[in-house]
Amino acid sequence: MSGDVYRNYINGQWLEGQKITTNLNPSDTSDVVGQYAKADADDCVAAIASANKAFDSWSQSALEARKAILDMIGDELIERKEEIGAILAREEGKTLAEGIGEVGRSGQFFQYYAAEVLRLMGENTASVRPGIDVEVHREPLGVVGIITPWNFPMAVAAWKVAPALAYGNCVVLKPAELVPASAWILAEIISRSGLPDGAFNLVMGSGREVGEKLTSSAGVDAITFTGSVDVGRHIARNCIENMSRIQLEMGSKNALVVLNDADLQSAVDCAVAGAYFGTGQKCTASSRIIVESGIHDEFVSKMTEAMGKLVVGNSMTPGVHIGAVVDERQLLQNLKYVELAKEEGAELVQGGERLHLETDGYFMSPALFINTSNEMQINRDEVFGPVACVIKVDSYEEALEVSNDSDFGLTSGIMTTSLKYASHFKRHSKSGCVMVNLPTAGTDYHVPFGGRKSSSYGPREQGQYARDFYTIIKTNYSKPY
Ligand code: NDP
Repeated sequence: MSGDVYRNYINGQWLEGQKITTNLNPSDTSDVVGQYAKADADDCVAAIASANKAFDSWSQSALEARKAILDMIGDELIERKEEIGAILAREEGKTLAEGIGEVGRSGQFFQYYAAEVLRLMGENTASVRPGIDVEVHREPLGVVGIITPWNFPMAVAAWKVAPALAYGNCVVLKPAELVPASAWILAEIISRSGLPDGAFNLVMGSGREVGEKLTSSAGVDAITFTGSVDVGRHIARNCIENMSRIQLEMGSKNALVVLNDADLQSAVDCAVAGAYFGTGQKCTASSRIIVESGIHDEFVSKMTEAMGKLVVGNSMTPGVHIGAVVDERQLLQNLKYVELAKEEGAELVQGGERLHLETDGYFMSPALFINTSNEMQINRDEVFGPVACVIKVDSYEEALEVSNDSDFGLTSGIMTTSLKYASHFKRHSKSGCVMVNLPTAGTDYHVPFGGRKSSSYGPREQGQYARDFYTIIKTNYSKPY
């Protein structure tokens, strides 16, 4: 760091950029989180070169040394989660509790993959030809380009950087321009972890320049991306040109089904948490709430009552349930969708307005629409804000059909006390993660995460399944004599 500007980290050096990005708190725009050096395409090229140079040593590093480095990063994140969580909440707008939770979870990703370093087993089998042995094992892939979105500025970076390093790869991380602080803190911790210079690089720049260079460079062996569908599709095309491996996690339009036999209070609690916590800025948010007719009116009435108790406000204020929207652009987009839903004939029963509070920020009251149909654009497009729609259906079968009728398929949920319907839904829901009597948002770190259709492309993230992306398989044949 020089003066007050936080720099990029390339080849073990903290480097200035040609320009500076000012990181503002969306809960209070008079609060400057920090000034961050902006990387350009040349910086990205230098980062890719340094990652390639470091690959020989890091890919051959001793397993216990690798494990110790990941443990150190994870432990420090967990020890400092309150302090770092406050910075994360200031830069992204989510509540302090959510910020602290995210940093703690990020630490757990590093601790989990520290242990995985020692668990990468191969296979040994006989050949179909007598007297020949066959070994199948996994090797590090090479240089991994990591591109992250703004909504989970630390956790998404952690769940990609930790397995990339654990399996012996070198990394170039490009965080979303809006939220460089969390990624910078992660880089600063990594810089003291004992990792060889160049094995991890941070380039804080725009998607259009730095992201473009990263995804179109032949020196990058794989790209893992979380963000919007359009950018994901574009990145995939770039990667194919170079035959680089791709993993894309994108948007969704997750359905929560509420059946007549559901526990009403649990259904309301799960719907509120899934739709609005994190200001609805989650790829796993419950944006379509599909409710069976027998419970519909009571559910809507209890849901609006619960929403009336939600406190929207400055992310740092105790007692706030819903923090700020990330920026003006996103807030205007949310409000545009509220107007569109009204024009389509949906009935707004709660919220959906811009709020002007004590601090100058981007606040919005959580919105609930009823009398919506699955054909409306509000139920097709991802809003990525605190906006949810109720779709009334007459049976479980109709609920399942509506739930699956989407271009996306990341998560889905069902609220029911019936084993029959819960089991059927788990089997027939066309999403990557299915929740029974739980919110659609909120997943574990030791099991796979990902979706279907336009929500995901490529191998799963997280848990042991992550190795399918971060390693390459080699098959050895040998004749022992
Ligand atoms: P974007 O797709 O706009 O951006 C994601 C990242 O890609 C950012 O770092 C961005 O850079 C970068 N980028 C933009 N253009 C390019 C390009 N041409 N080449 C390479 N990189 C580029 O999404 P948002 O960050 O706005 O996040 C919101 C979206 O992400 C939502 O649709 C949401 O559903 C999805 N998402 C999905 C998740 C999942 O796991 N499935 C999790 C979280 C979010 P820059 O900083 O310049 O914008």
